Amino acid sequence: MRIVIENVEKTFIDSKKREVTALKNINFSIDKEEFVVLVGPSGCGKSTLLNIVGGLMSPTGGRVFFEGTQGNEPNLGIVFQEIALFPWRTVYENVIYGLEEKGISKQEQQEKGKHYIDMVGLNSFEGAYPKQLSGGMKQRAGIARALAVEPDLLLMDEPFSALDAQTRTLMQEELLTIWNRTRLSTLYVTHNIQEAVYLADRVIVLSRHPGQIKSIIEIDLPKIGRDQEQYRSQFEQYADQIWRLIRNDAKEALKEG
Ligand code: ADP
Ligand code: MG
Repeated sequence: MRIVIENVEKTFIDSKKREVTALKNINFSIDKEEFVVLVGPSGCGKSTLLNIVGGLMSPTGGRVFFEGTQGNEPNLGIVFQEIALFPWRTVYENVIYGLEEKGISKQEQQEKGKHYIDMVGLNSFEGAYPKQLSGGMKQRAGIARALAVEPDLLLMDEPFSALDAQTRTLMQEELLTIWNRTRLSTLYVTHNIQEAVYLADRVIVLSRHPGQIKSIIEIDLPKIGRDQEQYRSQFEQYADQIWRLIRNDAKEALKEG
């Protein structure tokens, strides 16, 4: 499915009653099976844009449409930085939550639940409660829950930012393996440039005040195995290119704290 983001704009009213334009003139699309990464410094509007695409927030201008849904609500899977798993539900019960909501049969809940729990490598933790899981395992459970509804679009907002560096690297690798199996159209938000180059088919670079698209960069590297030695210099060139685009904005963001 192709998702089109057309002239999206968002203004907020801040605490001093001033209008703040968080997003302006946002135009892009996410193709079928495409992995699009939004990158930009803190406060540039990444989460706002992801929430608008996910229907959690309405834009003050423009629109988002999912091609080919024939008016039906699109199916969405969303993963946030801090996964809000239900503490009173086991991993399995968390993963099938969306399926229960949709009124899908118990048998199908079981099949899908098991399938996606397997996919994220949590099979021996089906009966565990969130408080028994490490940070990385909670994110896996959150990913399985988002996948279980077999979404038209997978949305991820800095899903690995709270993890330690090693766990994050492993999770990035695993996410690519999962993506390779599911081929879901994905919109992924990060402020981490290496992560963007590692995961993306296309990187959308946002600027701040207002959040606008500064550049869209196609990453012309094989989807799996970009971290191999032979691609190192191309990888670094992409990362440099993106860093040059956001460097000044990132400095400004730092001043504002
Ligand atoms: P990012 O995810 O890139 O760090 P956000 O989308 O969270 O950025 O925020 C973009 C801008 O919009 C920031 O200036 C932020 O202060 C402002 N903003 C976000 N949400 C609200 C809100 N609910 N009310 C007022 N301003 C907001
Ligand atoms: Mg954010």
